[in-house]
Amino acid sequence: MSNDEHKRQVLRALEKYLLKDPSRTNISGVSELGLVEMTRKRTQESLEHILCETCCTCNGRGSLKTAETVCYEIFRDIIRESRQFESTRFMVLVSPEVGDRIIDEESTTVAELEEFIGKSIKFQVETSYTQEQFDVVLM
Ligand SMILES: [Zn+2]
Repeated sequence: MSNDEHKRQVLRALEKYLLKDPSRTNISGVSELGLVEMTRKRTQESLEHILCETCCTCNGRGSLKTAETVCYEIFRDIIRESRQFESTRFMVLVSPEVGDRIIDEESTTVAELEEFIGKSIKFQVETSYTQEQFDVVLM
């Protein structure tokens, strides 16, 4: 790349090739180190978009609600449903993470909630559930 004619040949070949690229590219020249400087417009169709699908656990957010947050969503649902529907007890299907938290840290809250709504609440772990997934079933 020391020879200027060689540099021009490389740039011409590169320009010709880049004409096939649907994304707009600008070649600004060759640096002192012999590196071709160019900018390429970002397009919507990124490689990630082409090669990947949205994560079904977090729905593409890249983060999950904590087990604690899910527990409190469940408690709110139970209170709402106990007012709306006639039932004698609740069965809640939860992920293993949420099931652990219910046993380890929320047992007092669950007992208070059972007293408050006057109905019993049972939890059942579903190993196939993702951390955020749960179902409140009226029995
Ligand atoms: Zn994810």
